[in-house]
Amino acid sequence: MGDLVAEKHVQYILSVQKKKDSFESVVMEHLRMNGAYWGLTTLHLLGKLDTVDVHEVVSWIMSCQHDEGGFGGNVGHDPHILYTLSAVQVLALFNKLDVIDADKVTNYIVGLQNEDGSFSGDIWGEVDTRFSYIAICCLSLLHRLDRINVDKAVKYIISCQNMDGGFGCTPGGESHAGQIFCCVGALAIAGSLDLVDKDLLGWWLCERQVKSGGLNGRPEKLPDVCYSWWVLSSLIMIDRVHWISKEKLIKFILDCQDTDNGGISDRPDDAVDVFHTYFGVAGNVFLFFVFSTLFGHVISKDTQKGIFKKPSDFLLPTSCFGSCHKIDHLISLCLC
Ligand SMILES: [Zn+2]
Repeated sequence: MGDLVAEKHVQYILSVQKKKDSFESVVMEHLRMNGAYWGLTTLHLLGKLDTVDVHEVVSWIMSCQHDEGGFGGNVGHDPHILYTLSAVQVLALFNKLDVIDADKVTNYIVGLQNEDGSFSGDIWGEVDTRFSYIAICCLSLLHRLDRINVDKAVKYIISCQNMDGGFGCTPGGESHAGQIFCCVGALAIAGSLDLVDKDLLGWWLCERQVKSGGLNGRPEKLPDVCYSWWVLSSLIMIDRVHWISKEKLIKFILDCQDTDNGGISDRPDDAVDVFHTYFGVAGNVFLFFVFSTLFGHVISKDTQKGIFKKPSDFLLPTSCFGSCHKIDHLISLCLC
C-alpha cells in the first residue's frame, strides 16, 4: 500500500489557488467560497495554513457579505446559506470570527427557518435537510443556537427518516449518504441522536462499501472518495464505524491520489480536484485519529509529523462531532 503524498497535495492546493484563469477556477467561480473552504481546510489538516495570507482571505470573505447578513459564493453573487456556512467556517479556521457581526449573520439564518422547522437555502425557498444541518452547524459555531426553534428543526429532520434507516432531502426523499451525514450531524449537534435507529442506519451505511474498499452514496452507484467522508463520519457519530473495513477504505483513498502532481480524485485514475482532495485528506485524517494504530502502518512517521502538526486540534471523541467544536471546521456541504 502507498503513502499519503501530503506535500504534493499542499503544492496542488496552492497551485489551484494561483491559477485564477484555469478551467477549474472558471467553473468554480460561483462557488468560490466553498472552494476556499475546501482548499484552506486541506492546508490546515496538512499543517500548512500559514502559507496563505490571512488578511487577503478575510477581506475577500467580507467583500462577499450582503447587507442582510448572508454571504455569496463570490463577490457580487447572491447570498445563500451554503456559502454563509463556508464563510463562517473559514473565519473560524483562522480564529477570525470576531470580524463579523454574529447577530447579523444569525438573523439571516433565523429568517430562513420555515413554520414546519425546515430551512430554505435562500429567499427563493428551496428546502433541503442540507440547509437544516448548515443552519444548526453555523449557529453552533456562532454560539447562537438558541435563536432558532431547535425542537422543530429536529422534528423536521426526523420526518425525513426512511424505513431503511436513512434520510432524504425532504420527507419521502430517497436515502442518500450525503443527506444522512447532514441529518445525523444536525441531530448530533442538537443532542438528539437518541432519535436515530443506529443499527438500522448502520447497516445501510456499511452496505455502501464496495469490493474496491471505496464507499458509494446509494445502492448500485460507483464508489467515490467524498463518500469516505459522508459515510465514515456518519458511522462514527452512531458508533458503528467498526462495521466497515478501514484497511480497504484507506487503500481506496490512497489509490485515488495523483502521486506525481498531488490532488485526489473521486475514484482511481480520474482527474483530481479540490473538493475530492479535501474529502480524501479529511477522511484519512479522521481514520488516523480514530484508528491511529492501524493507520500508523500506512503512512510513515515523517509524513505523520508533517500532516498532524497540531494533533490536539483534532483529537476526537469516538462517537460524536456535536460536542467537539474543532470538528465543525471539517464539514462542508456540497454533494456529488
Ligand atoms: Zn464525489
